[in-house]
Amino acid sequence: MKKRVFSGVRPTGRLHIGNYLGAIKNYVALQGEFDCVYCVVDLHALTTLEDTALLQSNIREGMLDMLAAGLDPQKAVIFVQSHVPEINELFTLLGMVTPLGWLMRVPTFKEKARMHPQNVNYGLVGYPVMMTADIVLYKADVVPVGEDQLPHLELAREIVRRFNEHFGDTFPEPQARLTTFPMVVGLDGQSKMSKSLNNHIEIAATAEETTKKIMSAVTDPARKLRSDPGHPEVCNVFKLRRHFEPEVIASLDADCRTAKIGCVDCKKSLAAAVNNYFAPLRARRAELAAIPGYVEEVMADGARQARVIACRTMEEVKKKMGLI
Ligand code: ADP
Repeated sequence: MKKRVFSGVRPTGRLHIGNYLGAIKNYVALQGEFDCVYCVVDLHALTTLEDTALLQSNIREGMLDMLAAGLDPQKAVIFVQSHVPEINELFTLLGMVTPLGWLMRVPTFKEKARMHPQNVNYGLVGYPVMMTADIVLYKADVVPVGEDQLPHLELAREIVRRFNEHFGDTFPEPQARLTTFPMVVGLDGQSKMSKSLNNHIEIAATAEETTKKIMSAVTDPARKLRSDPGHPEVCNVFKLRRHFEPEVIASLDADCRTAKIGCVDCKKSLAAAVNNYFAPLRARRAELAAIPGYVEEVMADGARQARVIACRTMEEVKKKMGLI
């Protein structure tokens, strides 16, 4: 039997290059070798979202991005988290074996509580429990995520160990799977690329939007004049070029250090390479978006398949916990 993969993205807007390089690339690569289950985690989005008016359109946009990136409904189960209501049941049950102290220590909880002091809700502190429920509802062995998710995954492993100790071996301990670019820094050159920091580039942006954003990217802060020597090791544009244009990196390193190339030209090249890289994905996305009912059909089919697995797991969990 193939091992199972599970992962999800939040419907907080269109996907960005960080999501793509840190996670989606692996979602695509693991199809075939593994039994893959992928979803748009709408319930997770509610932990920080105060206005849900855009939720349905964000779900559709996220789905289209994933499908255009290469997720294939013939090879993977692709659905929306809340369409499989068993998640809520398992979330409640796992909550019974998760000490509150573990959750209060999670760095992302502390950070989000600091950023949104007016909205520190029960769902937010329980985020890692729901994420664990997502993974173990499908008994996943492997979870492709970006580096920022590693603390959550470690906690998921602890919850699984605790559950298995209490109620007998039930869930595999999930392992993270990182890409070769597990932490993409945003255009500010400082923080993780993220929608909430608005330092991101959407994978489905137009070529013009992409170029405009890249031209605003922060490079080596020490390089004030065109003639100043650069330090590629601190420059995010350099790191991105390493990914999108690996063939130019050796000469670019030298040209930057000797100021043979300036940051403006460097960013122009990056923009051209990024647009080139994503052109087929963008074309495919437009095609899929134009097929009436396509996304809705994928989501409905995916939810049906996911639910079969979820119901099987819940039956076992309830038996083990003495509920039936
Ligand atoms: P965001 O952090 O933009 O709100 P999600 O939380 O939905 O996005 O993350 C979806 C996936 O993308 C996760 O596996 C996450 O680790 C990964 N990811 C998000 N941002 C980055 C980044 N800047 N670099 C690498 N991976 C990322």
